[in-house]
Amino acid sequence: MSFLFPTYARWEVEPEAAEGSILIDKNGKHYLDFTSGIGVCNLGHRPAAVQEAVSTQLNKFWHVSNLFVQEQQEIAAKHLSEAAGMGPVFFANSGAEANEAAIKLARKATGRQKIISFQQSFHGRTFAAMAATGQDKIKEGFGSMLETFKYVPFNDSNALEKEMDKETAAVMLEIVQGEGGIHIGTQEFLEKTEQLCRKYGSLLIIDEIQTGIGRTGKAFAFQYFNLDPDIVTSAKGLGSGLPIGAMIGKQELEEVFGPSSHGSTFGGNPISIAAAIATMETIFKKEFLKGVQEKGTYLANKLTESLEIITAVKEIRQLGMMVGIETDVHLPHLLKALREKGLLALPAGKNVLRLLPPLTATEAEIDEAAEILQSILKEYSKSAV
Ligand SMILES: *Cc1c(COP(=O)(O)O)cnc(C)c1O
Repeated sequence: MSFLFPTYARWEVEPEAAEGSILIDKNGKHYLDFTSGIGVCNLGHRPAAVQEAVSTQLNKFWHVSNLFVQEQQEIAAKHLSEAAGMGPVFFANSGAEANEAAIKLARKATGRQKIISFQQSFHGRTFAAMAATGQDKIKEGFGSMLETFKYVPFNDSNALEKEMDKETAAVMLEIVQGEGGIHIGTQEFLEKTEQLCRKYGSLLIIDEIQTGIGRTGKAFAFQYFNLDPDIVTSAKGLGSGLPIGAMIGKQELEEVFGPSSHGSTFGGNPISIAAAIATMETIFKKEFLKGVQEKGTYLANKLTESLEIITAVKEIRQLGMMVGIETDVHLPHLLKALREKGLLALPAGKNVLRLLPPLTATEAEIDEAAEILQSILKEYSKSAV
């Protein structure tokens, strides 16, 4: 029996050790980890630079509260702010908390309450983040949601325009819907969304919790689309596995979040901050990000080539090292079969296999993953390769 609430349907794999792209279970079996802990370990498991930064901080102090000035928080905030081309940062402990901060900031800044988000979106599990999430299954059994959230179809500018008005505090979106099935926003839709926000005096909140910190080959995915968001949220990859979330706002929002307007006991914890600085100092380098773009293209080409004539594969969608393989195969079975062959992959939406490999994965590891995918998927297909 388990002493844990069964909120997760857990896999049969029990980790014992991990390094780089490799996870080793208690039986000594090796897996190619193309989940990165759900898009968290972007530098692979236990990257040396992060391990060193964390152990240095462990020998200084662990926690002092946000009543103190902490130079490291300033450094981490500067990295985020400069990478996003934006203003001040609020540190939280998770993605949902970063989104909570964004929702509160947008409502306080505009004096409005309505927030528009998108169908199939995912913004987290706390009450406001859950309310913002455009998936019924996430909200089932919890009663009424915050009634000021509205949902429209993703990539549908007309539907958005119909819902926009002078009551709208913000529009909140993911550039690539991650949990919802790797749906990528179109240039036209994203630009139009920003224009509509300007027209109605609403803020544009971009949830980069899964897409940020180099995942798509840019520091933040919105940078592919020439957008100018008012608020950006980050978490997952930010601390390489140590818990941290962040909200970045435009400079003019600074005074909205004055003393006692918002807070968090653990937010900006020194250990997580040390991990975040080391992570960003590695990932936000031009050369590193260029390498991620090239690797993403290599991965997409490899998958297209390997899975092209497999009828169980309906579509492959990719931005950087974020890939969705749409399939008609029963996902839990497929993922289990892949694990047996030594590849860890994720589900997304109803019928999408999601790959979030470490950004440091080698071409040889990508080749190996593609081979395993091909061998398993062709078993499911009528016209075998
Ligand atoms: C994972 C995720 C969240 C929630 O993050 P938590 O740290 O689990 O609270 C929010 N938005 C997006 C886009 C995510 O992928």
